[in-house]
Amino acid sequence: MKIGFIGLGNMGGPMAANLAKAGHDVTGFDMAEVSIEGVSMAETAAASATGADVVITMLPNGQILRAVANEIVPAMSQGAALVDCSTVDVDSARAVAEQADAAGLLAVDAPVSGGVGGAAGGTLTFMAGGSTDAFAKAAPLFDIMGQKAVHCGEAGAGQAAKICNNMILGVTMIATCEAFALADKLGLDRQKMFDVVSTSSGYSWTMNAYCPAPGVGPQSPSDNDYQPGFAAELMLKDLRLSQQAAESADADTPMGQMARDLYALYVENEDGLGMDFSAMLPRFEKRGRS
Ligand code: NAD
Repeated sequence: MKIGFIGLGNMGGPMAANLAKAGHDVTGFDMAEVSIEGVSMAETAAASATGADVVITMLPNGQILRAVANEIVPAMSQGAALVDCSTVDVDSARAVAEQADAAGLLAVDAPVSGGVGGAAGGTLTFMAGGSTDAFAKAAPLFDIMGQKAVHCGEAGAGQAAKICNNMILGVTMIATCEAFALADKLGLDRQKMFDVVSTSSGYSWTMNAYCPAPGVGPQSPSDNDYQPGFAAELMLKDLRLSQQAAESADADTPMGQMARDLYALYVENEDGLGMDFSAMLPRFEKRGRS
């Protein structure tokens, strides 16, 4: 397949490299100067999209996605698919899908889970929104870049799944960290706390697979001085998207709101910028009740 790939950063770079490695003809574009093995670079976003069967975008946010879509949609061939893998707001995902549809293109919003390691290893999970035809066109590429792709529904459904998942993740990480901090103050050994909770009804991915306490549980960013991993500011971005969506859909999400506010405080007013999102634990350790 002839593929255009726009946004070759930490995630997009290795994803594009995996497509090229699998034998696809990949033409990339990024605002920054980058070079990716096997990928030829175009001068503009429109040039990378021209003549492509599928154009994949992996960009920082919805505003940038909308701007890039304005450039590439007119350049794309009828019947080609625009597959956005960025994490963006549901409204932007739906607006871009409508724009693509009006131009005779297929569109899929397909945000990912699995981080930079998953992008490099081709083990991402894709959660996709769009028509059956659009999903079918993108599916062989999801198979190369990932290990699982779930077709969640119509346009925007992929982004909806992503922000709901990450709202649970943010809330659960905070709950896990504050419970460790409480356990410390109660004199409970962290390893014992892990042994009990990881096999009891308080278990979760954040406890069992990504334990925020160094030296406890499997290897995680806490064992590497909380270097990300998944950065606290990216968690904040996703929690903001979930609350933006909750407002626009009139959904009551008080825990998600509280998680957003706590990560905002941590990243913007405390020392969370550049830290892994599990560094909420040392944050709680430092604080008393008042
Ligand atoms: P990144 O900042 O490393 O990459 C974004 C790239 O987009 C950069 O190379 C930037 O130069 C480029 N870019 C920005 N504006 C552009 C434009 N107008 N035209 C062309 N290129 C442009 O970010 P990332 O970590 O690769 O994340 C990309 C997306 O994936 C985000 O939406 C993020 O939320 C999502 N995501 C990231 C992770 C992760 O662990 N990093 C995990 C899941 C999802």
